[in-house]
Amino acid sequence: MTDAPSSSELIDPQGRIIDYLRISVTDRCDLRCIYCMSEKMSFLPRAQLLTLEEIHRLARIFVEMGVGRIRITGGEPLVRRNVVSLIQRIGELPGLHTLCLTTNATQLPQHAEPLKSAGVSRVNISLDSLRPDRFRRITRNGDLNRVLRGIDAAIEAGFPRIKINAVILKGRNEDEVIDLARFALQRDLDISYIEEMPLGQIDDHDRAEAFCSSDEILERLQQAFSLQPCPGEGGGPSRYHAVDGYRARIGFISPHSHNFCASCNRVRLTATGRLLLCLGQEHSVELRPLLRAHPLDDEPVRQGIRDALRLKPAGHDFDLAGIPVIQRHMNATGG
Ligand code: SAM
Ligand code: SF4
Repeated sequence: MTDAPSSSELIDPQGRIIDYLRISVTDRCDLRCIYCMSEKMSFLPRAQLLTLEEIHRLARIFVEMGVGRIRITGGEPLVRRNVVSLIQRIGELPGLHTLCLTTNATQLPQHAEPLKSAGVSRVNISLDSLRPDRFRRITRNGDLNRVLRGIDAAIEAGFPRIKINAVILKGRNEDEVIDLARFALQRDLDISYIEEMPLGQIDDHDRAEAFCSSDEILERLQQAFSLQPCPGEGGGPSRYHAVDGYRARIGFISPHSHNFCASCNRVRLTATGRLLLCLGQEHSVELRPLLRAHPLDDEPVRQGIRDALRLKPAGHDFDLAGIPVIQRHMNATGG
């Protein structure tokens, strides 16, 4: 990896520079979070997935076109076989300056060290509750202790930045926002609170009823902490606040209450090779046929990516009421 941010040749019709790629390496997961999946999910046949070689090729092409930051995600990325060797090879791409991972932490006890050696510098870890019974209920089968061991392993491995992500739902875990903040801040970890997005149909709750806005969460946090906004920090959708007495920060990802589309700098590659131009829209291009039709010539793939960029919409149109417009779940999207 090189240190200097690269300049991207990927510019969308709104003039936004796209220098960040999220790669979903699988739609599978060992958990079944109630906001991400329905209880009975069917997953993609393995034959439809990009091979690790194809994912690496696309990562290289995107980096050559100016992407400087890649996040590996899923589904649960660490359940894909041999993913650590893929991550290591992506980490070696000249021009890439930041390699990130989003994980539920269940596999971190065995993988944290090799991931750190592979060049991963930022790890986002999902944690919605510190109560074992509630954690099991929200994830449908998760073992909180295992996740906590994963977080300890990440701290031990010494990643430069670890962030906790918590999706907050009314009547489920909104009473834990202060406990979650203390947990993170005392370990010197950032924490972001996420408003649930209407991606795919779920059967656990009514998303409009469970909606908990970032402003409500902020109000709760202000009962326990003194917070100052740090505008413009982070380079992503999180709006950060500094917290008196702590180095780590508290962020809010607020797709509903504080839409962040105007500064969007990213595209997403699904596990099947579909390039999604927006989290909340269906504008996309299938890159797998191009990859397979031109195994030795990258130019047609590059042109496919340039053409795809023209489709990037100005923003999402999330609406929590009724049937979600976007049928794909977050695990198939690459969150
Ligand atoms: N399995 C990994 C994990 O949970 O961190 C990575 C993939 S997961 C889809 C990425 C992030 O998306 C997690 O932080 C998760 O909480 C969030 N997420 C999933 N479904 C969501 C939804 N409907 N609305 C908002 N965030 C969601
Ligand atoms: Fe799995 Fe992550 Fe979705 Fe939870 S949010 S079900 S851990 S992919």
